Amino acid sequence: MIDLSLTPEQESVAQMVKEFGEREIYPTIKEYDRQHKMNPGALRRMGELGILGINIPVRYGGQGFDYVTLGLVCEELERIDTTLRVAMSVHVGLNSMGLLQWGTEEQKQRFLTPQARGEKYAAFGLTEPGAGSDVAAMQSTARRDGGDYIINGEKMWISLATRAHHVLWFAKTDTNAKPAHAGITAFMVETDIPGVTAGDIHGKLGVRAGSTGWVNCQDVRVPAANRIGAEGEGFKIAMSCLDNGRYTVASGATGLIRACLEASIKYAQERHTFGKPIAQHQLVQQKIAYMQQWYDCARLLYLRAGWLKNEGVRNTRETSMAKWYATDMSFQAAHEAIQVHGAYGFSDEYDVERYLRNSRGGIIYEGTSEIHQLMQAGYAFGERQDRPLRCELPAYDPDFWQEE
Ligand SMILES: Cc1cc2nc3c(=O)[nH]c(=O)nc-3n(C[C@H](O)[C@H](O)[C@H](O)COP(=O)(O)OP(=O)(O)OC[C@H]3O[C@@H](n4cnc5c(N)ncnc54)[C@H](O)[C@@H]3O)c2cc1C
Repeated sequence: MIDLSLTPEQESVAQMVKEFGEREIYPTIKEYDRQHKMNPGALRRMGELGILGINIPVRYGGQGFDYVTLGLVCEELERIDTTLRVAMSVHVGLNSMGLLQWGTEEQKQRFLTPQARGEKYAAFGLTEPGAGSDVAAMQSTARRDGGDYIINGEKMWISLATRAHHVLWFAKTDTNAKPAHAGITAFMVETDIPGVTAGDIHGKLGVRAGSTGWVNCQDVRVPAANRIGAEGEGFKIAMSCLDNGRYTVASGATGLIRACLEASIKYAQERHTFGKPIAQHQLVQQKIAYMQQWYDCARLLYLRAGWLKNEGVRNTRETSMAKWYATDMSFQAAHEAIQVHGAYGFSDEYDVERYLRNSRGGIIYEGTSEIHQLMQAGYAFGERQDRPLRCELPAYDPDFWQEE
């Protein structure tokens, strides 16, 4: 039976993040966005507040909350600032949860624990200049050399590229594998070792107050102990990391819809035309009604995915649906929010123009909307089925999660 009510613990974490966002992030976000700069203290504060390890078991440095709480946190963060939710998506969703699922006990102690405590920041290195949706086209290689691997390659469009201490790096250990994705292997690359360089991409449409960049590995020597999973298991690992990252994108985009809705309701009650607040014109009311519909549906979809994660049930289809719907609708909501604001929505005096720019990326990263449509059609036609994995994301078990 699905119980959609939140526990007092889930509500209080969401409230804590809401207050953090409103008090410490919102007052300066417009200026950082204008300057294309990251708030220098934001990640540190998120670490101090436990946000960077919110759903990681206490024994691995986290706060021991469930997967639904992670969704609520992302919703509250993106209601204020997309860039902080993007940081959660890569740090927690794509990297830490991948370690929780696939890492050995030793790797959890070495990498996951400092990440969950906020002492180290984590990124996800899948995309390359010539390989995005087509992951298997990647050119990165990892060659075995005694007890080490030598990694070469370039990753592009990497969130937290210039901030991360750890990058979950995907490279081919077998360039002749058939199918090509069977030759991909995952590694944890520490960014302070020789041969690793990184830089930020400039001129972005959105997430301007966030770090998005490139990371290069030139003859980077990593010990075999940094290999996550077995050789050739990298594609499966990447896809299961995306099941978790997409969940944070879905819940975050839901928060962005809420931000559009709240801003539009406020403005519609203040702005007058033809002798009355525009909130009293039915065509404006229709936009508000649609935004409310999109918000409710997006929230239900991500809560379903979070509930399935808690239960330990595979949720690739449901998470894909939640991500596709919420990101498309956050763009639509931002578009309508600008319309409600008229010309003022066209300037950065109001937040809605930033919402529109920030919403656009969600339709591209962690699977473009086209890729999600192909996935959903594949499930609908019965052509796509999820096979059990060697390591499944563990179901939420409060005893295990909260034990020291
Ligand atoms: C702000 C931002 C942050 C990002 N952060 C990260 C990160 O942290 N780590 C990371 O690894 N990557 C990251 N990415 C990269 C992102 O995941 C890729 O951009 C995305 O997977 C799409 O790949 P691409 O840009 O190469 O587009 P392409 O794959 O080249 O696609 C181009 C177009 O073709 C369409 N297309 C491609 N194949 C098909 C098909 N089979 N059928 C129909 N249409 C198709 C696509 O939908 C798209 O419209 C980020 C991107 C952005 C914008």
